[in-house]
Amino acid sequence: MRLPLIAGNWKMNTTVTEALALVQSMQQGLDGIKGVEKVVCPPFISLTAVAELLKDSSIELGAQNMHFENKGAYTGEVSPLMLSGLCQFVILGHSERREHFGESDSVINKKVQAALKVGLKPILCVGERLEENEAGRTIEVISRQIQADLKGMTSAGGLVIAYEPVWAIGSGRAASGEQANDTTAVIRKLIAGIYGDEVAQALRILYGGSVTRANIAEFISEPEIDGALVGGASLSAEQFLSIVEQTASIKGLR
Ligand code: PEP
Repeated sequence: MRLPLIAGNWKMNTTVTEALALVQSMQQGLDGIKGVEKVVCPPFISLTAVAELLKDSSIELGAQNMHFENKGAYTGEVSPLMLSGLCQFVILGHSERREHFGESDSVINKKVQAALKVGLKPILCVGERLEENEAGRTIEVISRQIQADLKGMTSAGGLVIAYEPVWAIGSGRAASGEQANDTTAVIRKLIAGIYGDEVAQALRILYGGSVTRANIAEFISEPEIDGALVGGASLSAEQFLSIVEQTASIKGLR
């Protein structure tokens, strides 16, 4: 049985004061929900303060990115070593990083390996663009990303994958549950091909892209989907709580 996981990607939103207020407003409610792993991913600058606030909480913490080197002359960057001990998770390969910051699959591959080396669980994002989707190239794109992002890795323990169609992110146009489930099933097959069936069956695969409290049930009801990576809706305590609550009740682990 795979433990469902809901992660909130706050992106470049919230000051430290706002981050603390947001996490405070959801903490009690989220702590009351069992059987779902709950993760918030605030901006780097708020991680220490939020970690301190959550030290007795069941809510876990994730970063939104990191460099692949542990230290060195990389002005402005944050390293795996700096995040280890502070966070449990790190989002890697998000389409906004790929698009706005030119992150290639080979860089993402280095980051995934560096994260696992220091005990951080990567939430590796993959997904096709609109034109690739419309050209029927979804599976081809996802396969290429997975092969390249996991290149040379002999183990996938601790890895989480998020299927995030680029056209669904922040657009209000989510995939359908069935569509997302079909692609998730393909991802699991790809992982089985690389690491074997046992690893593939244990791997958690999330859906991300315009998830809200109004549509989470559609995704979480699908057998291959183990949770969600939530952007915009994770900035509302009410929405995020409802998404986690619905996940707990649908996956039957409450
Ligand atoms: C995301 O940032 O990963 C995301 C899925 O954003 P949104 O939920 O806003 O589409």
